[in-house]
Amino acid sequence: MPLLTPYVASRTDELPGLENELKVDFAPGGPRLAYRNTRPEDRDHHGNLWVRVSESTGGRVLYDCMNVRRQRACMEDMLCQVCGGPADRDRNGWLFIDWRREGSPPTWPERSITSMPPLCAEHVRVSVRQCPFLCRAEYVVLRVRKPRLYGVSGTLYRLTDTGWHTSERDVLSAYDKPRLPGMLASRLHRELRGVTTVGLP
Ligand SMILES: [Zn+2]
Repeated sequence: MPLLTPYVASRTDELPGLENELKVDFAPGGPRLAYRNTRPEDRDHHGNLWVRVSESTGGRVLYDCMNVRRQRACMEDMLCQVCGGPADRDRNGWLFIDWRREGSPPTWPERSITSMPPLCAEHVRVSVRQCPFLCRAEYVVLRVRKPRLYGVSGTLYRLTDTGWHTSERDVLSAYDKPRLPGMLASRLHRELRGVTTVGLP
């Protein structure tokens, strides 16, 4: 069976924005990271600044890397990460795959926080067969009643005398905590609440 090209997968022709597009904006609420040429779509409705990235249908597919805009669209609108169509939902909830990671809560998979978008019924089966990552991890297929929007993660910028300093790892910023003014978001996360472990549909 040929490998599918997942809708969320990034491509080598899709390029991130440049660091010199960023500036410090002295807003009434305090200094914050901003773009020199602002566009309405740069911020989400929580005010987080998002990475700009181009979209292309060319280049090679990067199976282990998600395109920022498509990951966000899938998570926001509950679209299948493989085909971009509506994710599957029944009376027990939406279809997700989740796996145990460092930092997973003791209640896992309940209250797991994930950036991996949901799936349709067909593509949950394909993903379990084809995803090389899942072969190495303890994973579950889940129905999730309340996959609530949790927050964003990305690079945290700090302006110093010698220029921009960035966090080495991505930082998670929950919507119910104060917004981080140096955040450049690249992932949208949901918290999986009301989960039921199921077999493959
Ligand atoms: Zn699908």
